[in-house]
Amino acid sequence: MNNLDLSNLSRRNFIAVAGSAVAAVAFAPRCLFAQNKGIVPTMIDDAAKATIKRYPLRRNISVLEGSGGNIGVLTGKNGKLLVDSGFTVSKLRILEALNSLSSDPITQLLNTHWHTDHTDGNAWVHAAGAKITAHVNTQKHLSTSTRVEGWNWTFPPAPTGAIPTVVFDKEHRLQHNGTNIRMKYYGPAHTDSDVSVVFEEADIIHVGDTWWNGIYPFIDYSTGGSIDGMIGATEHNLRVVTDKTIIIPGHGPIGNKAGLTDYRDMLTTIRNNVAALKKQGKSLSETVAAKPTAAYDAKYGQFLINPGFFTALVYSGV
Ligand SMILES: [Zn+2]
Repeated sequence: MNNLDLSNLSRRNFIAVAGSAVAAVAFAPRCLFAQNKGIVPTMIDDAAKATIKRYPLRRNISVLEGSGGNIGVLTGKNGKLLVDSGFTVSKLRILEALNSLSSDPITQLLNTHWHTDHTDGNAWVHAAGAKITAHVNTQKHLSTSTRVEGWNWTFPPAPTGAIPTVVFDKEHRLQHNGTNIRMKYYGPAHTDSDVSVVFEEADIIHVGDTWWNGIYPFIDYSTGGSIDGMIGATEHNLRVVTDKTIIIPGHGPIGNKAGLTDYRDMLTTIRNNVAALKKQGKSLSETVAAKPTAAYDAKYGQFLINPGFFTALVYSGV
């Protein structure tokens, strides 16, 4: 994030802020966040209240929605394979949803990237029996204290059991429940740890947080993300899907190529609008005031990342 936005914010660590709504309200950049209390507490509170919705997709693959990022589930005799683990506050309701799919134990967990709304549940999923696979940078960020400026939050190292033990750099393949699974690194995009997960026979791809379907995405510059990286990852996604592919976004409803194309157009249009304003010498606040996202706000501006915040994220990268 640009120093302009966050220069007056105290750098409190996770322990100091956790459980203290007052501190969170006092230090969140209110003008930028959709909710006054800050993004991380908002996400955890939402997960604590949410019902977990279950959507069967194709073959033996389903998705669970309601606790942080969308959780992909592949069932079968080798045990359940999960893509991402949501927030720990939702453990009992996630287990209930998983048990309603089948009685197989959980044996594999794949992480799309390191962010807490996709990995907070890693420890309990591992304790339940899962081996964890991810990009090497997910292992790196979960192993140490990691600051996310855009969330005004510092995460402590994750517990040992939460840290992926099978890691890769470019690509990783596995076979599970008769399904060929391919994990592929995007390069720096939303973070520097994003991977896609393809279920080949079912023609389903989980694209993690490179796609927030119908909502402005967060971009984590603190750990290697950028607007141009997001656009590059989205172009990659568009190249590898067809009109028949089921696309699981990191956040938002299950989507398809048409929705992903609209999202790519939104990203590139706003990127170009913001870059033009910045080139004219406009400050961040002048750029936000010029409303470079206006054409998309009714459709994309209704979730965690409001138009001003998204403009600031794009401004940081052009
Ligand atoms: Zn994320």
